[in-house]
Amino acid sequence: MRSDDRFWSSYWECMPRKRLEEVQLRRIKQLLKYAYENSRFYHEKFRKAGLKVDDVKTMEDFVKRVPVTTKEEITAAQSVSPPFGEALACDPSEVLHVFQTSGTTGTPLRIPFTHYDTIKYGEDWAYGFWAVGIRPSDSFYFAFGWGMYTGFWSSYWGVRRLGGRVISGGGVGTEDRIRQMQSLRPTVLVATPTYALYLAETARKMGVDPKSLGLKYFYGAGEPGPTALPKLRDEIESSFGVKAYELYGVAEVGAIAPACPKQDGTHLNESNYHCIVMDPESGEVVAEGERGENVVTSFSQLAQPVIKYRTKDVVEWHHSEPCECGRTWTFFKGTVLGRTDYVVKIRGVNVYQTAVENVVRTVPGTSPHLEMHIRLDERGMDDILIKVEADPSVPTSAYKDLEDAVSEELRRSIGVRLNVEVVRPATLPRYELKGKKMIDERPRDRQLPFRGV
Ligand SMILES: [Zn+2]
Repeated sequence: MRSDDRFWSSYWECMPRKRLEEVQLRRIKQLLKYAYENSRFYHEKFRKAGLKVDDVKTMEDFVKRVPVTTKEEITAAQSVSPPFGEALACDPSEVLHVFQTSGTTGTPLRIPFTHYDTIKYGEDWAYGFWAVGIRPSDSFYFAFGWGMYTGFWSSYWGVRRLGGRVISGGGVGTEDRIRQMQSLRPTVLVATPTYALYLAETARKMGVDPKSLGLKYFYGAGEPGPTALPKLRDEIESSFGVKAYELYGVAEVGAIAPACPKQDGTHLNESNYHCIVMDPESGEVVAEGERGENVVTSFSQLAQPVIKYRTKDVVEWHHSEPCECGRTWTFFKGTVLGRTDYVVKIRGVNVYQTAVENVVRTVPGTSPHLEMHIRLDERGMDDILIKVEADPSVPTSAYKDLEDAVSEELRRSIGVRLNVEVVRPATLPRYELKGKKMIDERPRDRQLPFRGV
């Protein structure tokens, strides 16, 4: 491929929809057979559902007859004989890399990979890097502690696949990371969006203009980022003088959807994944352009297959027309709009985490740091208190006006009035990985059924 090509693989990225479905159906049939024959979990699951894998002859059969899979089911299958249990489909000796989710409740979900799985997972990132103009001549700084979190390990595999230079920041402090960037001059910063903002804030405190680091790109993952939150994108781009993109990944499934270069959404990598978007309550597939839960099947997870896996991510899908960027791959407008378990109904209105973040960030005088506290009001109904840090330029005497302005903007945009508390700069916690923004303070039996990975 030439460096001025727009696509990592135009063969896959621009494949006509009809052809794509034919290829995917063939792969789905192979996957069902592989899972049934090699994973005790899927064998039992299909048997209990009365499903014979040879009966799946059309895409409609797959959508209608094959049962969905949940994280809780895979965790339970692992617990039968830890660490991988009945979910494993390969020989244990073929597991070459192991991760786990940082679940806040219960047992962590273990994520084993074969060598093939890691190659394909990395390739997901390579598609994304190439699409936005990143080339093998670029060098990548990983502001990441190299722990049990899949996200940026897979990004590292992607950089190896691309042929770029790797600078692994590792477990040093934020100031040291800035010094490393000053001396080694990376062109791409890979981090969570929250941490990128913290890096910029810390650089300024050190008297270093983040723009002087010489970065050209920010590529984020792990939480809603530059395509889901335009104001956040502006902040990252103007702080560092970069173009900012994000990849939508699901740790136990893959780096499923790299950014569209137009920056208003992500494309499902349909060379590796298939998806349907369904109503989380009825299980019915929703029409194109509507929102629902993203249910993903991976063709490149041989260690622990994921078939019709409920991601709990809310997306809006578009697939019948190619995107302006030329890709035919399913487009998730605005990337992940929320989590099915992070939707709180307040006085009859669905309130999504990302929607609140986007609105708050449009109000002048607010900083990017906020928290949403879910609690009960005096009548025992669900309510949310939004704590947002003021920008350092705002005097404390103006906090009350700022609270009113944010509350009014939320009412205008989302249709419900929420309580807002403006707090002083640098008082909310900072995170290296995902920011914890939804805090459920309700009694345990009223809490969200499941908290994110
Ligand atoms: Zn596109």
